Amino acid sequence: MNTKTQYFYIFSGEDLLLEKDGDRYAIPIGEYPPVAVDRLLEVTVDEKTGIYTGEASHNLPSDTYEFMGLRTSYDFLDKDSFRIAGKAFEINHWDRHSRFCPACGTATEHPLPVMKICPNCKHELYPVISAAILVLIRKEDSILLIRAKNFRGPFHGLVAGFLETGETLEECVVREVREEVALEIKNIRYFGNQPWPFPSGLMVGFIADYAGGEICIQEEELSSAAFYNRGNLPEIPRKLSLARKMIDWWIANPS
Ligand SMILES: [Zn+2]
Repeated sequence: MNTKTQYFYIFSGEDLLLEKDGDRYAIPIGEYPPVAVDRLLEVTVDEKTGIYTGEASHNLPSDTYEFMGLRTSYDFLDKDSFRIAGKAFEINHWDRHSRFCPACGTATEHPLPVMKICPNCKHELYPVISAAILVLIRKEDSILLIRAKNFRGPFHGLVAGFLETGETLEECVVREVREEVALEIKNIRYFGNQPWPFPSGLMVGFIADYAGGEICIQEEELSSAAFYNRGNLPEIPRKLSLARKMIDWWIANPS
């Protein structure tokens, strides 16, 4: 008898399938996924638990199940389930984007959960992670908050940007701040990091101090940027983000 508990992280686009019990939500458990999926991929497997992921259409067998946006699910799942859901989402994304060898175009083989290989030229493929920085800039009793044109929602956040080839994280912080708001900064120090599965990122947070310059925004990317003190903060990012954790840390730690 199979005594393994199997968890199914099934997606339709960016929506995650959840099982409803009144106003509680959980990841479906069972012998089979509760809906038909294209292909079932392993996320992590140990002796007692198997975690699988796949993609399904939006049609559901009953109202016991519901698709919910991955970001929204943060408010309804425990921390571990949300973290695994992010990993599962990244694995689906990777699977969809690695079906053919990027070097010679041959269909790839998939011998291990997070490794594919080209049977023709032996090129190996692993999930790609894009690193991006976030920086909280302090100036006296204020911090710099920006509105990026691609933000989903009315909140203000931190300067952010993707790491470029050959760049250190600190160089990236300095460059992004210059490009986005034309300021100079000093005392750059590491804060923390967070996987950001939208679709396959790692956010690395830094704290820095204002060193000079006047704010001049990069108009293609930002709609506003200004310093705000603890008494006049605008709407800030939701709790799931590292940016929010950094702003909460600053609120709790007056310098
Ligand atoms: Zn190849």
